[in-house]
Amino acid sequence: ADTPLFSGLPGDIEASFEFFPPKTEKMEIKLWDAVQDLAPLEPSFVSVTYGAGGSTRERTHNTVARIIREAHLPAAAHLTCVAASKDEIREVAEQYWEAGVRHIVALRGDAGEPGAPFEPHPEGYRNAAELVAGLKGIADFEISVAAYPETHPDADCPQADLDNLKRKLDAGATRAISQFFFSADTFFRFRDEAAKNGIDAPILPGILPVTNVAQARKFAGACGAEIPQWMDGLFEGLDERPAARQLVAATVAAELCRRLYAGGVRNFHFYTLNRADLAYAICHMLGMRPKGDVR
Ligand code: FAD
Repeated sequence: ADTPLFSGLPGDIEASFEFFPPKTEKMEIKLWDAVQDLAPLEPSFVSVTYGAGGSTRERTHNTVARIIREAHLPAAAHLTCVAASKDEIREVAEQYWEAGVRHIVALRGDAGEPGAPFEPHPEGYRNAAELVAGLKGIADFEISVAAYPETHPDADCPQADLDNLKRKLDAGATRAISQFFFSADTFFRFRDEAAKNGIDAPILPGILPVTNVAQARKFAGACGAEIPQWMDGLFEGLDERPAARQLVAATVAAELCRRLYAGGVRNFHFYTLNRADLAYAICHMLGMRPKGDVR
């Protein structure tokens, strides 16, 4: 028999999509196009990131509120501990609750300088686990937290990072979303270690379709993810060929998802960078179809 290259079944997988808050009107239009393109896939949720030091506080809020109001999608707001007292966090959280936001991605965040040690606000939360507990005390939010298949750079060792993940879940989070990675085996090892540590909450793999290796490498160093050498080779000579770069990016990300699917993963989180095409194509290959479409 003919073996399908992709064997996802309709209704078998769930996807969530991450966006960042737009800075300009042009970027806002682009984001909104992406949201509308992806909405028919009925994501389990979409999320909107929060800029360093609360720099996007208003924009994150407005974007999440608009997605809920106009696209009628369950939307989560990212929130960090950076440069905010507990009272300020309370105010932000209460505003979210009032705007109908019921899901928060709770993060510690980073210091301004890449690689600099995190300095908590004197009256703030010192880490994500404390933030989760604080938010749960404000309202009954659904809370997601970050996980690091290749270990967070601040962690003393992989076990300490797993212990930290467990603390965040014990504090009231119900799901983890992983930092991006490019080896399915790395994810499976992490998932197995988490299970051995009594972590039974879902861990969604964070999928980043990379179209620009140099940019991704810059970003990856500071956040506990490695861009493998083979990626450089794949993109070599494509600087002036954006269309070919897109195809390569889609192929690499789709292959990663295919391997994850083969290993039992059914929930995927896509770092969309506010573009729908790659995430849409990969979800399609995994068997997702817009509601109402019969094939
Ligand atoms: P934490 O879980 O608090 O942990 C950070 C490190 O400190 C870990 O190594 C942990 O093991 C260690 N640690 C924590 N508490 C203790 C303790 N009590 N004792 C010993 N060690 C401890 N950043 C943004 O600014 N905005 C965003 O919107 C954003 N979204 C993200 C979404 C996802 C899915 C991911 C994976 C990351 C995101 N980040 C975002 C990046 C994140 O803020 C950074 O990775 C940050 O450095 C760590 O945040 P955290 O929530 O994982 O921190």
